[in-house]
Amino acid sequence: MTATVLDGRALAATLRAEIAAEVASLAYRPGLTVILVGDHPASQVYVRSKDRAAVAAGIVATTVPLPADTSEATLLATVAALNADPDVDGILVQLPLPPHISARAVIEAIDPAKDVDGFHPTNVGRLHDGQDTLVPCTPQGCMRLLRAAGIELAGRRAIVLGRSAIVGKPMAALLTAADAMVTLAHSRTQNLAGECRRAEIVIAAVGRPELVTADWIAPGATVIDVGINRAADGRLVGDVDFAAVAEVAGAITPVPGGVGPMTIACLLANTVKAARARRG
Ligand code: NAD
Repeated sequence: MTATVLDGRALAATLRAEIAAEVASLAYRPGLTVILVGDHPASQVYVRSKDRAAVAAGIVATTVPLPADTSEATLLATVAALNADPDVDGILVQLPLPPHISARAVIEAIDPAKDVDGFHPTNVGRLHDGQDTLVPCTPQGCMRLLRAAGIELAGRRAIVLGRSAIVGKPMAALLTAADAMVTLAHSRTQNLAGECRRAEIVIAAVGRPELVTADWIAPGATVIDVGINRAADGRLVGDVDFAAVAEVAGAITPVPGGVGPMTIACLLANTVKAARARRG
């Protein structure tokens, strides 16, 4: 293997320790409330790990479990109550929501100052305007990994595979703000492999197991793999064929142990940021 493996687990542990030290220095305990609608098994796992990490950092973590048949009106009223609660600094509504509830309406109901996922249109607008804001956790985690590894971004050709509102689009905005030249590729992109080969930085956020193969990667490129997928044989894999791409790339994140742990650490960072901004 030629690539340096970017260890997200280690970097996330460092960040979580820094956050815990910062929280210990505050005169109050920041509060994070997660709303979980229904019993989606993966969501329950995510919410439990967010809760554990928050508590370990000294954050007051609360989960509001609601039944799957909760009405949109009840969910909006729950969000409104949390908006008004002075002890709540961060509100996160775990996605996906059941199909009878509009995720858009619920996200827009969250106070942007408490929107620790960074999905509210006000925060999305600020991000695209280059303003300081609550930045979505997964692309924020990718940026922290790139910075910690000392990867030069200014003037470099970057490609983001996937244009979701959660990962791809904010990732492209962050790379643009860091002066990279960004291509945002998606399912309608022609010659994805060729576009990818031109890039010095590749961010894969597609949700297709091991889509990105070694012949897509320029020698020495940096590869950040956001994907979390189950391969046909049951293995947990990313969007990148790790073993083969690691022979070509200059740096690469593994799955698991790359972007995933950074996402949760960034949620804690956003909670503390929101608390400081609101409480002064
Ligand atoms: P999504 O389904 O919302 O978006 C996928 C994007 O990929 C779309 O924009 C689509 O156009 C594009 N796409 C689909 N097939 C493609 C193809 N063959 N070629 C090029 N582009 C293609 O997914 P998402 O929520 O952005 O998540 C993407 C992946 O990242 C998933 O595997 C998800 O599990 C993972 N994820 C990981 C974390 C983390 O913390 N590590 C967080 C969020 C998502």
